[in-house]
Order: sequence, then C-alpha cells, then structure tokens
Amino acid sequence: IKRNPHEPEFHQAVKEVAESVIPFINQNKQYQQAHILERMTEPDKVVSFRVTWEDDEGNIRINRGYRVQFNNAIGPYKGGLRFDPSVSLSVLKFLGFEQTFKNSLTTLPIGAGKGGADFNPKGKSDREIMRFCQSFMTQLYQHIGPNMDVPAGDIGVGSKEISYLFGQYKRITHRVESVLTGKAIEYGGSLIRTEATGYGNAYFMQAMLAHHQHDIKSKTCLVSGSGNVALHCAEKLIHLDAKVLTLSDSSGTLFIPDGLTQEQLEKIKDIKIQQRKRLDVLTHEFDCEFFENKKPWHIKAELAFPCATQNELTEEDAKQLADNACIAVSEGANMPCTPEAVKVFHDNKILYAPGKAANAGGVAVSALEMSQNSIRMSWSHEELEEKLHNIMKQIHDKCVQHGENEDHVDYVKGANIAGFIKVADAMLAYGVV
Ligand code: NDP
Repeated sequence: IKRNPHEPEFHQAVKEVAESVIPFINQNKQYQQAHILERMTEPDKVVSFRVTWEDDEGNIRINRGYRVQFNNAIGPYKGGLRFDPSVSLSVLKFLGFEQTFKNSLTTLPIGAGKGGADFNPKGKSDREIMRFCQSFMTQLYQHIGPNMDVPAGDIGVGSKEISYLFGQYKRITHRVESVLTGKAIEYGGSLIRTEATGYGNAYFMQAMLAHHQHDIKSKTCLVSGSGNVALHCAEKLIHLDAKVLTLSDSSGTLFIPDGLTQEQLEKIKDIKIQQRKRLDVLTHEFDCEFFENKKPWHIKAELAFPCATQNELTEEDAKQLADNACIAVSEGANMPCTPEAVKVFHDNKILYAPGKAANAGGVAVSALEMSQNSIRMSWSHEELEEKLHNIMKQIHDKCVQHGENEDHVDYVKGANIAGFIKVADAMLAYGVV
C-alpha cells in the first residue's frame, strides 16, 4: 500500500491472488527464494501520455492515455484498451495484473498488459471518436508491435475504434501487421472474437455445472450488463437451452420472466450496439418490467453472470442470491464481485468462477487472431468455436486440478495457482531480470 498509494483496485486484485498463491509458494521454495510474486506485482513498464484532440465545436480537449505492460514472460504483452471516465492507473494495474493469470490460463503464448484513457466515448460523434483514436495512437504506436505488445478492445473500444487506431498506426509506421486484435474481418480480424468472451463464460459455467452433476439446460439465469460480454453470454445460454431472465445497463434492469428469445436478443443488440440507447426503451415492446436504477441480483434464479463492470455485485447482492437458492456464479466482467460477496458465495457453497478463468475466452480468441495473421490464414466459425469450447474446458479442468479441496473445488485458488505456475517457471528460467 505504501509503494502503490491510492490504488484500491490494484490492492484488491493483488490481495485476492496473494491469499491463494502465498501458501503454495511457501511449499515451493524456489518461487520464494526468487521473489517471484513480488516481481509479478510490479509492472515491467508503465507509460502515461497526454492525448490532445479537437471536438466538433473546435474546442481543444485533453485526456490522459496509458499503457501498462505488466508481464511478458510467456509472450508479447496482450490485453485490452479501455476508454471510460473511470480509467485510472489503479484500474489499469488491477486489470493488467489479472491479465497475467488469465492469459497464462489460456495455455497460449501471451503476456499481459492493459491500457486506455479517461475519455468518455458516450455522446461523442464518429468524427470526434476518430480524432481521439488518432491522437491516442500517435502516442501509443512507439510502445507496441506484433512481437512486443498487441493491444485489443475493452469497454468503450469496439471494432470501430480498433479500426481508427489501426488506420493511424498504419499511417505512421507504413506497416500492416498484427499489432492490434479485435480487427474487422475485412483486414485480419478473427471470426467469433466479438462473441468469444460471452460464449466462453457460458461454456465455463456449463463445464463447472457438469463437474458438479448439474445440467445447464433449463436453468434460470441472471445476466448483468448489455454490452459485448453480456449479450453474447446471453446468446450462448439461449443456444444451451438455459433461460435468461435479465439484462441490465447503467440505468437499470430489464426483467423477462418467460426467458429472453433470440429474436428479442437481436432487438437488444440493435438498441445497445447500433443505437447506443438505454434498455428501458424496450419495456413496452417486450411487455416486461424495467427496474429503474436496480441491479438484477434481487430476482430469483439458479445461475448468475455478472458481465457489466468491476465491483457491481456486493455482499448484500450475494446474500440475496443465496437467499434465492442460486447455485453458481460465473464472472463475465473483470472482478465484478467484491471480496465480501465472494465470501458469501463460499459460506453458502455457491459455485464461483472468477473472471480470470471464466472470461478468458476473449483473449484466447485474440491470440488465435494473432496466429491466423502470422500464418496468413483464417479459420472457419465452426473451427474457432470448437477451439474456444476446448480452451474453456481446459481452463476449467486446470482450475479443478489446482483448486480441488476435500469437499469442494476452490476455483479462485485453482485459477490463481495454475496461472501463476507457468509465468513463474518462465521467470525462474530467465534468471534475475
Ligand atoms: P461494454 O462497454 O460493451 O458493456 C458494458 C456494459 O456494462 C454496458 O451494458 C454498460 O451499460 C454496463 N455498465 C457499465 N457500468 C455499469 C454500472 N455501473 N452498472 C450497471 N451497468 C453498467 O463492455 P464489455 O461487455 O466489453 O465488457 C464488460 C466487462 O467484461 C468489463 O469488465 C471488461 O473488462 C470485461 N471483459 C471484456 C472482454 C471483451 O472481450 N469485451 C474480455 C474480458 C473481460 P451502459 O450501456 O448503460 O453503459
């Protein structure tokens, strides 16, 4: 805390990992002697820069951009860019640190990074977003490269923003190379990247339930958020014959008691992704309830998928889920459940999959996008979905391997230890660097 003051999100992420990894390190002295965990909590490099751009009225605007290159022991830095007013060094360090374990769990050769800016894309015109992205990349380009650091999208950065960023990279460097993932299909993007995080989360839940002799079919589900992760998680749940009761956004929760249909989901995609409107505009059309400024967690359901943002599911929310006999929670977002909420899950024997394992499908398909770009080939939708499904099953099994206790599987411990070992062994092999 003294070394990293005013970074509460980063402290929270490190504490959660340290609690499960330190007992393991104490039994494996080679990691202790080499101070591997201390080295892993210090990013390799942090860059921060001014992003100056002009709005449509001709006003000069200034934002702060960052790239946190956390750890490249097992591959080039890899992790998203987030454009949101809540972006701070603490948030990006927490995300970059988590990414180290997540990327390691995918079994693919990718290191960990995260970046972004405190820029709010909401309400901005396309031209303003383009000018912001160009100015951002003018600073960022010197720190990234296909074998050095390959950023992707995150909150506020979708394929449109990635295209503007890539256009500027190409203009400055004269190079057309795999320096960003999440690209449009026309110029090197991968099929199912958009769907991968949400689909992967549903697959992880399916594997976790199967391991505990439950079937995902017909289970009632609460999904929070209505962004990329939430919508595709809901879509895969529908494919798997589960019943999605909610989606939400920052204005409240849409409750569909009979279960969301694919047709309704398409309508929501249009409203949220194309039109960028609030979910409540659909209340009348769907003939359902909208809980203004409320989260979904008070509604009775068997499964919960927090897919919106960090710390969105609190201790009180977790108690409501427990009172309503929820059996499992799988995180689509990064760190959406507070530590107090996780304790409630543990005390009530609710299965709990942390985001670093359950939402790793997105970065896994990003790594597959890098592979496809390198071999100048594209895999089909079916091939990629099969690869994604297998990766999620493998991540699940690794969590079980390292997290199995006498009477339950501790998925947090399993994910942290499995993610730690691969990076730690590579760092040991490199010596003192
Ligand atoms: P999007 O920007 O597409 O969607 C975010 C959604 O969350 C929106 O529906 C937004 O509502 C809602 N939201 C944001 N803040 C709040 C809040 N305080 N209360 C309620 N709802 C809120 O982001 P993504 O879906 O891409 O990402 C969601 C999470 O998943 C993030 O934690 C991200 O880091 C994580 N993640 C994303 C990956 C990806 O592939 N996209 C990969 C791995 C993790 P509104 O529309 O009103 O703003």
